[in-house]
Amino acid sequence: MKRDFDLIIVGGGGAGLAAGIMAKKAGVSVMVLEADTKLGGATALSAAVMYACNTSVQKARSIEDTPDAMFNYMMTLAGWDTYPRNMRILCEQSGPALEWLIELGVQFPKNYLLCSGVDTVPRGHPSMGLADALINAAGAAGVEYALGTRVDKLLVKNGRVVGVSANGDELRAGAVIVTTGGFGNSPEMIKEFYPTAAYHGDWTYSVHMNAPFILGDGIKLGRAIGAAIVGEDTGLLLPTSGLGKWIEAFMPPWIMLVNTQAQRFMDESAPYAVSGYLINGQPDKHAYAIFDEPTLEIASQDMRFADPYHSGTAMPTWEYNLLRQSIANGKITKADSIAELARKIGVDAETLQVTVDNYNADCDKGCDSVYFKDMDTRFPVRKGPFYAREVRACVIGQTGAGLNVNERAQVLDEHGKVIPGLYAAGEVLGCGVGKRYFGGGMGICNAMVFGRIAGNEAAAEAIKSA
Ligand SMILES: Cc1cc2nc3c(=O)[nH]c(=O)nc-3n(C[C@H](O)[C@H](O)[C@H](O)COP(=O)(O)OP(=O)(O)OC[C@H]3O[C@@H](n4cnc5c(N)ncnc54)[C@H](O)[C@@H]3O)c2cc1C
Repeated sequence: MKRDFDLIIVGGGGAGLAAGIMAKKAGVSVMVLEADTKLGGATALSAAVMYACNTSVQKARSIEDTPDAMFNYMMTLAGWDTYPRNMRILCEQSGPALEWLIELGVQFPKNYLLCSGVDTVPRGHPSMGLADALINAAGAAGVEYALGTRVDKLLVKNGRVVGVSANGDELRAGAVIVTTGGFGNSPEMIKEFYPTAAYHGDWTYSVHMNAPFILGDGIKLGRAIGAAIVGEDTGLLLPTSGLGKWIEAFMPPWIMLVNTQAQRFMDESAPYAVSGYLINGQPDKHAYAIFDEPTLEIASQDMRFADPYHSGTAMPTWEYNLLRQSIANGKITKADSIAELARKIGVDAETLQVTVDNYNADCDKGCDSVYFKDMDTRFPVRKGPFYAREVRACVIGQTGAGLNVNERAQVLDEHGKVIPGLYAAGEVLGCGVGKRYFGGGMGICNAMVFGRIAGNEAAAEAIKSA
């Protein structure tokens, strides 16, 4: 059958570009079809932290790390309820993928290396120039691309994917890779595939908001030809005060967080690898940040607390002027006593008083005797007026549901059989992350590792079937 290209890649974000570069290296012609007016997708908008182990960057800091150690961490955090085969691949291939990116010109400054999950080994590699390096390398390798081209169908002949249709045109290829990213901008897909996020209604929004085609097209394309969809109701939900819709991931350590039973339930400074899951695990899936006047005045203006990632700007929904404004317009509840505050937010006053008293006693001792928050940040709830703001974990940082693939990035159908000619990589995978987001950088790690595998494997199939 006549083909227009050996390989078609649907989506020109991180995974698609990585796949394209690898496939060109393997000697096939590659066309990337991108719905947006530019390449890069969410990858280009991201903070570009990559989670990886056993890297030259870690070695330059004398940090010992192995794929086994990373695998054990992931499996433990997920309570073994994850996709071990894919986790193993991420662990083994994250290091080589990162070294490959360095060869492409991406910088991973060793001084920025951080523990981005709840692990003890720094595996979060902040980078500079990642998306540009991928776009440039794809161009230099001769990857062709068409912008403004939203693929709406996979073409199938005799059970094999043989091309795509977009904008009314059909294009044929020896293999197709779907790398359309997540579905954070589609309320309809969120409702169907991420009910915990949908639960929060108007509060819910996605960090992908500036990537207009993060709409779950890959799920629709696959489902239409019998691909299995896995990983429902998984992903990463980040906490917010809901006082605006900005990209944020952290809560300030100076709040005391209580659930609707007026009890503390976590270290308020916990990393986002666990904080959102803890909040969504509470009754009614929300909590209240409680603080007093001196804390508001001093702590919220202290950049040590306002900017935990040293980005140079304060966490937007916890910024001092916004908090003052929100008190004035009633979005933050104000009261002269703890009992009045409890009544206004509808929690039990006696319990809230006990919680506050215990918290204050711990602040005085400089030791959180229950949740072990770093009490150097000692901000008791003692001097009125007192304030409360509802907190929800509803900012979608990553969607988890999507296509299922095997170790060669081949898409599987509902019976677990390979769909010939079809590959997938990146956030469109439902088996990439599992029930837990392991730490900052997993999205890029997944896109790079499976993008590279998909590019290699699909190129080999395209050559074989030519
Ligand atoms: C603000 C922000 C910060 C983040 N920070 C980090 C971080 O620091 N570390 C980390 O690991 N992860 C981070 N993430 C998540 C991470 O960026 C993503 O998980 C990862 O980049 C996804 O890569 P991808 O290639 O799968 O998808 P994308 O890079 O999103 O690419 C998908 C592409 O497919 C295109 N597309 C969609 N549908 C179609 C269609 N039908 N036809 C043609 N093209 C289509 C889209 O327009 C897009 O260009 C962040 C995300 C955001 C938005």
